[in-house]
Amino acid sequence: MSKAPIVDILMYHSIATDDVATAIAPDIFKAQMDAVETSGTPVITLDDYVAARNGEKSLPPTSIIITFDDAFVDFQEQAFPILSEKGFPATVYVPTGCVGGTENWRGALQPPRHIMNWSDLEHLAANGIQLGSHTISHPDLNELKTLDLIEEVRRSKQTLEDRVGKEINHFAPPYGIADYFARTAIERLYQTSVGTSFERATLESDIIDLPRLEMFYFKKMKRWEDHLAGKGKGYMTRRRTLRQAREAVNRPWERV
Ligand SMILES: [Zn+2]
Repeated sequence: MSKAPIVDILMYHSIATDDVATAIAPDIFKAQMDAVETSGTPVITLDDYVAARNGEKSLPPTSIIITFDDAFVDFQEQAFPILSEKGFPATVYVPTGCVGGTENWRGALQPPRHIMNWSDLEHLAANGIQLGSHTISHPDLNELKTLDLIEEVRRSKQTLEDRVGKEINHFAPPYGIADYFARTAIERLYQTSVGTSFERATLESDIIDLPRLEMFYFKKMKRWEDHLAGKGKGYMTRRRTLRQAREAVNRPWERV
């Protein structure tokens, strides 16, 4: 049994109809959020989670944190209206050097998807959406020389803070990858960092590699509703085993 409280950190990228693992159709996203609302599971922020770990706050037995990587424009168009209608907070991880442009990194779709501009991001930050850093240029951090690594981790935080006037405390490494050196750089500047290991978080999880639930795996509503009802353990275990087998043979940027 996992130790309570359990926190499911949901991972989304694009909310669109592209037939790829980094996109979820708007109607499915809406159904997933409706199911969260119906289940009554509280949606909290990463700050709440940190406060709970510091003993400053208590969490219910199960709660949810919603995260989006890459800051695609469809967040603003598709996800934000649903989140704000339900009063659900969320975190969007921004690759600051790509703001107002398109995805241009390894694994990008063709044609590339558009990324929000600064005025979109400033508007979101003023309306209940927390921004986190997703580096400047979306590199694989493990491939960088030390100075470039520090620059990607530090300057992205500084840029976001200058733009939105709020402290930026949360980070997501591109591709979920951060070796020892990357971790060291991240933990010096951020309170949390999220990864891609497919597990439910607890207050004991590695705070610089928090597990997340890839929501692509919960496109079937019955499966998501079962999970929310606490009946999803068998599926989680099977999916984790499959994923580990796939990651052992695939190149890391093919991870979702
Ligand atoms: Zn990304």
